[in-house]
Amino acid sequence: MTNGIFLALGSNAGDRRAHLEAACAGLRRHALSVSATSPVYETPAHTWRPEETQPPYLNLVLTIETALTPLALLEVCQAVEHAGGRSRPAGQPWAPRTIDVDVLAYHQQTRGSDRLTLPHPRLAGRRFVLEPWAQVAPQFHVPAPFDASVHALLSACADTSRLTRVASLS
Ligand code: ATP
Ligand code: CA
Ligand code: CA
Repeated sequence: MTNGIFLALGSNAGDRRAHLEAACAGLRRHALSVSATSPVYETPAHTWRPEETQPPYLNLVLTIETALTPLALLEVCQAVEHAGGRSRPAGQPWAPRTIDVDVLAYHQQTRGSDRLTLPHPRLAGRRFVLEPWAQVAPQFHVPAPFDASVHALLSACADTSRLTRVASLS
């Protein structure tokens, strides 16, 4: 399967489930439709230093349909983050966040700019991305540099964090 546009959503601050639900509603208002929603997983936060602790995340992956270009889609994702109270404190790239929306893949497109890298450059090392993604699109072919299905990337993922499936979004 080579067609599909996928977003990863995460929240580890405030009412996490409410932030995820508001983000889905916000995305729908911005010229895109959500065609599949993965289960929601609670996952430990990846932190910069091992001794640093952070509240756990709720994570999920969406399959969407849209006529927006990749850059316009990124702008929508960032507008939804902004509406969800996301702040980006200087010097704290891994700080807790109310809502994070990443573009995982846009069909088979590849691009390498800082503003938008496709597919998302760190997806293969993140079980909290691959596990929910494999629930909605295990056969999707993630293009270069990965060049493998979501299922194969999950099978090869070295991230051993423990994910807990929790109630799906309503
Ligand atoms: P990570 O990208 O490792 O998941 P993050 O989500 O915490 O980290 P942010 O602070 O949300 O990082 O985003 C930093 C920048 O990444 C954004 O300003 C955005 O322009 C850029 N970016 C590049 N590629 C993507 C992508 N595929 N999806 C979302 N943002 C991207
Ligand atoms: Ca992210
Ligand atoms: Ca992000």
